[in-house]
Amino acid sequence: MPRDYEEKSFWLATAGPYRESPPLDGDTKVDVAVVGGGFCGISTAHYLKRADPSLRVAVLEDRVVGYGASGRNAGFAMTLMGMSLEVTSLRFGKQKTKQAYDFGRRAVDHIGQLVDAHAIDCDYEKPGLLTVATNKGQAKRLQHEIHLAEELDVQGLEWFDASRTRAEVDSPAYLGARWEAQCALINPAKFVRGMKDVAVADGVEVYERTPVMEFRPGKKSLKLETPRGRVKADKVVFATNAFSTRFPQLHGKQFPVFTYIVLTEPLSAGQRDAIGWRNRQGIEDARNLIHYYRLTADDRLLFGGSDAMYYFGGPLDRDRNPAVFRRLQRDLVRTFPALKDVRIEYRWGGPVSVPMDFFPAMGYLGKDRRVAYSLGCVGHGVAMMNMAGQIMRDLVLERESDLTQLFWVNRRVIPLPPEPLRFALGETLRAALKAQDAWEARA
Ligand SMILES: Cc1cc2nc3c(=O)[nH]c(=O)nc-3n(C[C@H](O)[C@H](O)[C@H](O)COP(=O)(O)OP(=O)(O)OC[C@H]3O[C@@H](n4cnc5c(N)ncnc54)[C@H](O)[C@@H]3O)c2cc1C
Repeated sequence: MPRDYEEKSFWLATAGPYRESPPLDGDTKVDVAVVGGGFCGISTAHYLKRADPSLRVAVLEDRVVGYGASGRNAGFAMTLMGMSLEVTSLRFGKQKTKQAYDFGRRAVDHIGQLVDAHAIDCDYEKPGLLTVATNKGQAKRLQHEIHLAEELDVQGLEWFDASRTRAEVDSPAYLGARWEAQCALINPAKFVRGMKDVAVADGVEVYERTPVMEFRPGKKSLKLETPRGRVKADKVVFATNAFSTRFPQLHGKQFPVFTYIVLTEPLSAGQRDAIGWRNRQGIEDARNLIHYYRLTADDRLLFGGSDAMYYFGGPLDRDRNPAVFRRLQRDLVRTFPALKDVRIEYRWGGPVSVPMDFFPAMGYLGKDRRVAYSLGCVGHGVAMMNMAGQIMRDLVLERESDLTQLFWVNRRVIPLPPEPLRFALGETLRAALKAQDAWEARA
C-alpha cells in the first residue's frame, strides 16, 4: 500500500500503523453514499447508522480517512464558527451569531463526549484558548468582541491584561489576551481514525482509495463512478469541504484556501521554562490572517497560519509553500525569541473551505432532497464537523429537527464568479485582510 498520506502532516506520519480499508471493487447499491472520509463524512455515516442500523451506508474516500483537512489541522476544537463573532454578527445579525456560538459550545463538549464514550486515544486535553493581541488594534478588536459577547449573553470570554497573559505564556509580543476555557486540543488523525473504527464496528462500509470521479443523478437512483465500480445510491452526501471544488454542482460555492504549519523538534525543559506555557493553552493571535499555535503531546511547538492562499483555478495539491514556511519560522522566533535556535522538523499544509461570506453552509442540492452537502468551515471545523454528522443525518432522513432549523442549513450561498474573476476576487479579499493587519501592526 502506498503511504502517500504520511507526508501530508506530522499527525498522519506518526499516528501509528494504519490498516487501510480495501477500495470498492465492483458495482454496488447502497441506501446512502457519503463522499469524503473526513470528520464530516465519518460523523455523518456514524450518526446515520446509529439512527437506523438497517441502512446500508458507504463512505467513499479518495485516499485514506483523514487525508484532507481532518488529518492535517492544528487540532483546536473551538467554539468559533466562521471568521469571528463580529464578522458573523455584521453578516447575519446578533441572534444568529448567538445561535452559532451556542452550537460551537455544544460541539466542543461533543468532542469530549465522543472521546469518553468510545475511549478514543487521541491525546485529548482541554486547556482552553488564549487569543492574544500583539498590537493595540488587535487588543481593541478583542475587547470589542468581549463586549459583543456580553450583549449576546455569551458567557465565558474574559480579558487578560499583558502581565496576566505573560504569566501564562511569556512572549514579549503580547499586550493582552481574550481567554476562553471552552477549547480542547486533539491529535486529529488519531481522532478521525478512532471514529472510523467506531463507524465500521457499527456496520458502516468504508472504501478507501476510492475517488468519486463522476456523479450522475438519475431518475431512479444516484450514480457515482469510481475507478473499479459504480455505486447506486438512494441518497448522497458530499462531505468534501474544500475538495467540493471537484464537483461541478458545488464548484461555485467556496474557495479552497491553503493554510500552512511548521512543527518544531520536542522542546527541552529549558526551552519550555523560557516561555512558560505550563497550562498548555491553544493560542491564536487576533490578526485577520491569524497565527495559531499549540504544544503537541510530546511538547513540540506547532505554529501555523500567517497567510492563506487561494491559487488560480483552485488546485488542491499546493500543500507546500516554502515562502510561507520561512515566514512561519520567522514569526515563531519573533513570538518566542528564546526559541531562536529551535529546529523545524515537519512542514505541511492543507485546504480549508471559504465561502464568499466566511461562514459554513450545509443543505440539500436540489429540491428532491436526495443529495446533501457540507462545506465552508473557514478553518474552524474540528468541533463543528464532528457535530455536523447529526445535521447531515437529519437532512438525509428528511427529519425536521432543531438542527435542520439552524440558520446555516439550507441557507443561500453567494455564488463565486468563474476564473479569472474568482482569482481576482480571492486576491482582493486577501489583500484587504492583509492591509488591515499591516495597518494595525504599524499603529
Ligand atoms: C492546516 C490546517 C489547520 C487547521 N486547523 C484547524 C483547527 O485547529 N481547528 C479547527 O477547528 N479547524 C481547523 N482546520 C479546519 C478543519 O480541519 C476542517 O474544517 C475540517 O477538517 C473539515 O472536515 P471535513 O470532513 O468537512 O473535510 P475534509 O477533512 O477535508 O474531508 C474531505 C475528504 O474528502 C475526500 N475527497 C475529496 N475528493 C474526493 C472524491 N472525489 N471522492 C472521494 N473522496 C474525496 C478528501 O480526500 C478528504 O478526506 C484546519 C485546516 C487545515 C488545512
